[in-house]
Amino acid sequence: MTTTVRAYAAPSATEPLAPATIERRDVGPHDVRIDIRYAGICHSDIHTARSEWGPTTYPIVVGHEIAGVVAEVGSAVTMFAVGDRVGVGCMVDSCGECSYCARGDEQYCAEGNIGTYGSVGRDGEPTQGGYAQSIVVTERFVLRIPDALGLDVAAPLLCAGITTYSPLKHWQAGPGRKVAVVGLGGLGHVGVKIAHAMGADVTVLSQSLKKQEDGLRFGAGAYHATSDPDTFDKLADTFDLILNTVSGPIDLDDYLSLLAVDGTMVNVGAPEKPLSLRAFSLIMQRRAFAGSTIGGIRETQEMLDFCAEHGISAEIETIPADRINEAHDRVVASDVRYRFVIDAATFA
Ligand code: NAP
Ligand code: ZN
Repeated sequence: MTTTVRAYAAPSATEPLAPATIERRDVGPHDVRIDIRYAGICHSDIHTARSEWGPTTYPIVVGHEIAGVVAEVGSAVTMFAVGDRVGVGCMVDSCGECSYCARGDEQYCAEGNIGTYGSVGRDGEPTQGGYAQSIVVTERFVLRIPDALGLDVAAPLLCAGITTYSPLKHWQAGPGRKVAVVGLGGLGHVGVKIAHAMGADVTVLSQSLKKQEDGLRFGAGAYHATSDPDTFDKLADTFDLILNTVSGPIDLDDYLSLLAVDGTMVNVGAPEKPLSLRAFSLIMQRRAFAGSTIGGIRETQEMLDFCAEHGISAEIETIPADRINEAHDRVVASDVRYRFVIDAATFA
C-alpha cells in the first residue's frame, strides 16, 4: 500500500521540471510521515536533475532541504510525535552497522548512505525527494527543528547548514583561525554565518563585490573579489582554512596559494568536470586539499541547535512550485540571495 502525493519532477535531463504524482510507502513501525511545508533548492538538485554528475534515473523528484510537521508516526516510533517540527536532509537511511555509522558518520556509511533522492530505498523503490507534499522517513534520519527557527529559514540548514558546519568543525574553525569562504551562494552564506559564530576570522572570496554589504552583515571581517587579480597577491599565504563552495571549475592553484603553511582547502563544491592542481601548490607549504560531504545525523542535530542558539538561519526567497525552473536557472547564474525555498502548499 502506498499514498499518492503531488510533487514536481524532472522528466529528463533537458526538460523543465513539471507537476507529477509520486507514491510514498505506508508508515511502517519505525517510520514518520512528514507534511512538507518548505523545501530548499540546493545546487545539487540542479546538478542531479540535469544529469551533470552522470546519468540520473528519471523521472526524479529532487529536494533534500526539507522542513515540515509530523503527520503520522509508526507504532515503534519513540522520538517523534504528531505535530513535531522536523526536518530531513540529504540521506534517509544507512546500514546502521558499519564503523562509520556506529560513530555517527552515516554520510560515509561503508555500504553507501541512502540518498533522499536518486537512491534505492530499503523497499527496493527509487527514493524521491522533497519537492513534494509529504515524505515518509525512518525516525533515525529525522531531525528536530528548534522552536527558535522558522521552518522556512531552517529548511536550507538541512543541507547548506550541515555541509558547511561539519568541515568548519572538523578543521577547527574558531578563535585565532583565518577562514576564507569561496562563493557567497546557498552554502557560502550559511558557512560565513557559522564560521563567524564559531569565532573564526572570516573572509569572503566572491566573483565580484556586488554582495559585499551582505557578506559583512553575515559576519565576514573582509570581502574580496576574485575577478581582481590583486586579490591573490594581497592575500597570499594568509588562510588556515579555505572552504570552497563553488559549483563550477576554479583555478585551484590560485586559491591554494592563499593558504598559510599547514593550511587546508576543503572542497564541498561538486563541479561537473574534474579539477586539477599542481603538486607544488601543496608541497612547499605542507598544504592540504580535502573534501567533505554533509554530516552525520547527530552532528546535523548539533548544527540545528547551534544555529538556534546563535540566531543563524538562511536568507531566503520563497517561491511557489511553478517558479522552480526559473529558480534553477537563477541559481546557475549565481543570481540567488541566498537560497530559494519552495512553499510546499503550492504543490497541491
Ligand atoms: P550556489 O547557491 O549556486 O552557490 C555557489 C556560488 O559559487 C555562487 O553563488 C557563486 O558565488 C559561486 N560561483 C558559481 N559559479 C562560479 C564560477 N564559475 N567561478 C567562481 N565562483 C562561482 O550553490 P550551492 O547550493 O551553495 O552549492 C554549491 C556547490 O556545493 C554545488 O556544486 C553543490 O552541488 C555542492 N554541494 C555539495 C555538498 C556536499 O555535501 N559536499 C552539499 C551541498 C551542495 P559568488 O557570486 O559569490 O561568486
Ligand atoms: Zn544540497
